[in-house]
Amino acid sequence: MRHTEFDYIITGGGSAGCVLANRLSADPSIQVLLLEAGGADHHPLFHVPAGFAKMTKGIGSWGWNTVPQTHLKNRVLSYTQAKIIGGGSTINAQLYTRGVPADYDDWEHDAGARGWSFRDVLPYFKRAENNQRYANEYHGYGGPLGVSYPISPLPICEAFFQAGQELGIPFNPDFNGAHQEGLGYYQLTQFNARRSSTSVAYLRPVEDRPNLTVQLRTHVMRVVLENGRATGVEVASRGSALTQFLRARREVIVTSGTIGSPKLLLHSGIGPAAHLSAVGVPVVHDLPGVGDNLQDHLDLFVIAECTGDHTYDKYNQPHRAAWAGLQYLLWKKGPAASSLFETGGFWYADKNARSPDIQFHLGLGSGIEAGVARMRNPGVTLNSAYLRPRSRGTVRLASADPAAAPLIDPNYWADARDRELAIDGLRLAREILRQPALKRFVMAERLPGDAMKTDADLFEFACAHSKTDYHPVGTCRIGPATDRTSVVTPDLRVIGLEGLRVADASVMPLVPSCNTNAPTIMVAEKAADHILGRLD
Ligand SMILES: Cc1cc2nc3c(=O)[nH]c(=O)nc-3n(C[C@H](O)[C@H](O)[C@H](O)COP(=O)(O)OP(=O)(O)OC[C@H]3O[C@@H](n4cnc5c(N)ncnc54)[C@H](O)[C@@H]3O)c2cc1C
Repeated sequence: MRHTEFDYIITGGGSAGCVLANRLSADPSIQVLLLEAGGADHHPLFHVPAGFAKMTKGIGSWGWNTVPQTHLKNRVLSYTQAKIIGGGSTINAQLYTRGVPADYDDWEHDAGARGWSFRDVLPYFKRAENNQRYANEYHGYGGPLGVSYPISPLPICEAFFQAGQELGIPFNPDFNGAHQEGLGYYQLTQFNARRSSTSVAYLRPVEDRPNLTVQLRTHVMRVVLENGRATGVEVASRGSALTQFLRARREVIVTSGTIGSPKLLLHSGIGPAAHLSAVGVPVVHDLPGVGDNLQDHLDLFVIAECTGDHTYDKYNQPHRAAWAGLQYLLWKKGPAASSLFETGGFWYADKNARSPDIQFHLGLGSGIEAGVARMRNPGVTLNSAYLRPRSRGTVRLASADPAAAPLIDPNYWADARDRELAIDGLRLAREILRQPALKRFVMAERLPGDAMKTDADLFEFACAHSKTDYHPVGTCRIGPATDRTSVVTPDLRVIGLEGLRVADASVMPLVPSCNTNAPTIMVAEKAADHILGRLD
């Protein structure tokens, strides 16, 4: 018989949810239920690093878009968010970055997230980590999450580092170490040439625990509240028109992601009262900050044509793809072992910034991600993103129906400074690709193209081609209970309610200066200690 009552119910098996399922069920006396709307990750593309090339094109995701972006000439951007066990960690580009200590010190000092300074969070990054190279002040090994360097980098990557040095940007062997500045290889969430998602790293090793239940293809419709306490969730399983109530004896832990978590709270009647009333959801708990404070990195990119087959574009031909597959099967090397974005770095658009404010991702090909042009001849892509945006957006409901897509408004470039610095970052990316060291590999820039010179030209280009960097955070932000814009207190409890926490990327009050998977895993690791009473 299926249980309908558990100690903890976790609403989303993404990067954070799988970590929590593992950590909470480590105590055999605690009954844990992990619910995930998406399905299993059996398909090999979720495990072979180069499978990322398919991931932003619809597989394992919700299929959401933004609302028209006012400051990007009303363009609607595709907004890939994971719907699969492991969440973003199953479909992401596998870059393992943490940002800089000041990011977390800002959480504590500027946003009131007491206990989340870098000194506080570093042990959780290390606890998660099974780093294959480093064991030092910044890195640990023996944790669940495989972290390793690229296995088969290409010669163009080394030339990219030299090009940086020609511009005064040093080589950096570890962006997660003492300094973030420079170009270099990214550490990747990979182990033994396979993706190390939280599904693989945290869930699979413990899926036989009798006190852990994992239910896939199950949509949490709402959190049920009785007298100010979360008592369980209402769910709908695929293929059934009926909903079911599942009781949580201790807590409901919301881990549905930066878009999904505020969406779920709003459907549960927790959020800004005026908005809930406007869409016809009965107000249970007026909490104005739910769905506010959305922050994301907006990505711009340069695409150049190569002088020959220097990137992985040639593997779009079926016979070459077959050879790549064989190389991978036999030797765990070659193109299929590459996440296609394994090289990049951090530098300054604002020379006075406290730490790098631009991040680069070198894409070993063209057209790797949805919405990015593919060259007819072999190409290379250099993405640049401004890392500390001041623009703030929202997640709102389109209707009271939990099955309806939410209204996602990152509000990119609402603050003009974000636009100026992002365009400076794009110019830097162009400069890097034009350096002498890359002449052997790079024939000519094709996008934006030499004719696009002025800020106005590059703004036009950005309006037509910019894309999300997939780093939304902030919509259920941590902050002091006295601040009306906070959603959770530093121990991740929803303000004003009992038995309910949020523990995923949505609680980050400010987007860190990096990709957001490792920070989310850190949040979940620390959340487990809060929930289990190991922190005050
Ligand atoms: C395409 C892509 C590429 C990225 N590349 C990188 C990268 O290279 N490096 C990096 O560090 N970061 C990257 N990121 C970002 C990173 O993966 C995310 O920040 C991280 O996964 C967020 O974790 P989360 O647990 O907050 O949410 P998610 O991992 O999105 O998990 C939320 C889960 O909840 C489920 N869910 C939502 N609503 C419900 C509901 N009502 N009922 C049941 N289940 C529900 C979802 O299906 C999902 O599985 C990328 C993200 C994407 C999408």
